[in-house]
Parts: sequence; C-alpha cells; structure tokens
Amino acid sequence: MKLLLKHCDILAAGGAGFRCLENAYLGVDGDTIDYIGTEKPRAAYDQEKDLSGRLLLPGLINCHGHSPMVLLRGVGSDLSLQEWLFGKIMPIEDKLTAEDIRLGNQLALLEMISTGTTSYSDMYFEPQTAVENALACGIKANISRPVQCFDKNESYAGNFRARESIQLFQDFHGAGDGRVRIDFSVHAEYTCFEHIVGPYSADCKALGGRMHIHLSETKKEHDECVEKYGKTPARWFYDLGTFDCPTAAAHCVFVTEEDMALMLEKGVSPIHNPTSNMKLGSGFAPIQRMLDLGLNVTLGTDGAASNNNLNMLEELHLAAVLHNGYHRDPTILKPAQLLAMATRHGAKLQGREDTGELAVGKKADIIALDLTRPHMVPNFDPMALTVYSAQGSDVVMTMVDGKILYENGEFLTLDADKILHEAGAAARRLHG
Ligand SMILES: [Zn+2]
Repeated sequence: MKLLLKHCDILAAGGAGFRCLENAYLGVDGDTIDYIGTEKPRAAYDQEKDLSGRLLLPGLINCHGHSPMVLLRGVGSDLSLQEWLFGKIMPIEDKLTAEDIRLGNQLALLEMISTGTTSYSDMYFEPQTAVENALACGIKANISRPVQCFDKNESYAGNFRARESIQLFQDFHGAGDGRVRIDFSVHAEYTCFEHIVGPYSADCKALGGRMHIHLSETKKEHDECVEKYGKTPARWFYDLGTFDCPTAAAHCVFVTEEDMALMLEKGVSPIHNPTSNMKLGSGFAPIQRMLDLGLNVTLGTDGAASNNNLNMLEELHLAAVLHNGYHRDPTILKPAQLLAMATRHGAKLQGREDTGELAVGKKADIIALDLTRPHMVPNFDPMALTVYSAQGSDVVMTMVDGKILYENGEFLTLDADKILHEAGAAARRLHG
C-alpha cells in the first residue's frame, strides 16, 4: 500500500542535523519512506491523508527502561536508590507473575505509543511476554533478560538468567521482520560477579549480540566498585570484554575522563535518563562532555518506578533545561542535538541503521505533533518548539514500518480499555 501524507510540516534529515519543510508531502511505500518534498509527488498513491497543522518527526526511541515496572509506579518515592531498589521494589517484584509482567508491558506500550515512542529498549525478566506483545502490537523493541548473580559460588553454567537470556536471543532475535531484536544484558556491576560477566560477554560477542547495562548510576555504586576491585565500573566491564560487544550503558552519571575514553574507544553508547537521575537524586551526567568527545549519547526514561512515566517528550524537555541550569550556561545542548539523541542516536544504539530519521529509503517510523494547541502557537522554530514546548499528549499519530498504531487518541492494535482494567487489577493485587 502506498500512502501520501500531505500539507504537513516535516523535520526531515538534513546532513548531520535536520531541515524543516513547511506544507510538505511525505510518501510511504509499504514500510519505507519513498518521497519527501514541498512539491506534490508525480507518483500515484493508493491513499492520501491530510495532516494540515501537524509536524512530522522521526519516531522517538526510548533507549532504556523496564516496561513492566509501570505496575510499581509511585512505589517507594523519596528513598535512596539502594533503599528504594532493595527495600521496596525487589520485594514486590518477587511477587510478579508472568501474567502481571505481560499486563505491565501492555500498559507501558499504551503509554509509549501514545506519547510518540516507536522503538524502545527494555531490560526485565519474563521477557518473552514483551516479545509477544511487540509482535502483536507493531512497535519496535530491543528486549533483554538481565543477568544478575547474588551467590558467589554459582557457576556461569548454573546461572539460569544467562541461560534464559541466550535462549531468548536464539528464539526471537530478528522476529517480526526485524522489529524485535534481542539484546544481552548485565544488570550492573554491583549485581553480578566477574566469573559470570566474563563468559557471558564472550558468548554475546560470539553470537553477534548487543549488550545493555547500567553504568555508574550512583556515587555509591561507583565508589564501592573502586574500593572492591581497584577500578571503576567502566574499566571493570572493559577488562571483562563486555565492551567488545556494541554496548548501551544507562545513566553514566559518575563516569570519569578515563571511563569516557574507554567508552569512545569501544563505541559504547551512553543513555541519558535525566528524570530518573533527578528523582533518585543520583546526580548530573556529563552529557555535554560526552557529546563533545563524540560519544553516541541517547535518551531513555528508565522504569516508571523511578520517573514516574515513559514520556520521551518530557525527557527531552528535562534534558534540554537541566544541563543549562547545572552549568549556568544556556548555550549548551542545542535542540538539534537533543532531537538527534532521541532519534538518530537511539537507532544507532539499537542496531537499527534503517530508521531514526525522516529520509527517503528509511523505514516509515513517524510521529505527528498537533501544532494547533495553544502552547504550540506560534511556531517560529519547530525544533525548539518540540524540545521546549511540546507535551506527550500532543502526539496525534504514531506510525511504525508504515503502519499506524495510534491516531487521534485511538489505539489501532491494542485494546486500551481491557489493558487498563486488567493492569489496574494486577497492580492492586500486588500492592495489597
Ligand atoms: Zn534502569
């Protein structure tokens, strides 16, 4: 099917940045963009859709989260990360059934799709539920089963999490015409041991996988690693061969200059999670420094228990203002850089070089923002408008691989009423 989106403004790819077209046309042939321009294309399209008053952007890519944790939204607020995680979150997580996790992921999908996320990276247990949901609803997802180890005497062969992770990769990597990718994951340095991380990283490399980790999120984590091993978490992962796989590293709040050099050498992509870092009081990640060094900095929400939502437009806004305040300099982190973090850089992190920007030949992963809302008028600079003014609720269309998943408040591939009812019931039981 060929679809022509017409009379819309478009933030199209332009060199290393973006160019904005007004009252333009974007053609989609099957799952691929086949035309972008201000002149009506000569080719015939089966269907035309008038998007006057809409701004088309590349779909947002949420590079770090734990989607089923929406069921724990609001739990244990105002505690330190260690108290929050070990004292509040993990005891509830112990009660989660696979069915709860399936429902939690579906609730997260409603939230992500309706706020413009077309692809997300997830780290959670019972990950086959997220695979099945992604295949059914049409979103793109890099799904991983995190490896942890709490018993120093457990062997690598005896670590069931690593076995599950590798099995998941073998069963589902590339499913749904590549919409589902399976990543490897070490939860973090402080929840694992060297004799597990070393061979697991070697398996990831041998199988051609990508790695997703938490890195230097808190000062406590960073300092205790230095005390325990005489090296930083980044050096620890580097020495264990983890960074020999394309690696996505969440948080990176306390990475040192040497850590960043190691990450650059190995092509590690940092993921900035500003809301989570602020809510948990973790600190300010050196985002400008990482961008200046040439690291592929991306953006993520983290889980809803530490955010408390999965709204990438809010994440963009916070990232945009946070570092200006911290550095007392309003000229850093330009809107184009932030939009690249949320789109093109995210695609690179996920191993999806065929998406992340609106250009002919790229996959049709597109969102539309409503430019007619009061806070979106006037529109002098669409990039600044998107980063500083737009709300998640301004998303009026979300398309993945040419298929519309959400439009004007309606979910076309998910039963929202049923999910809201069932996920609400599951959350009440868990908290009861
Ligand atoms: Zn996380």
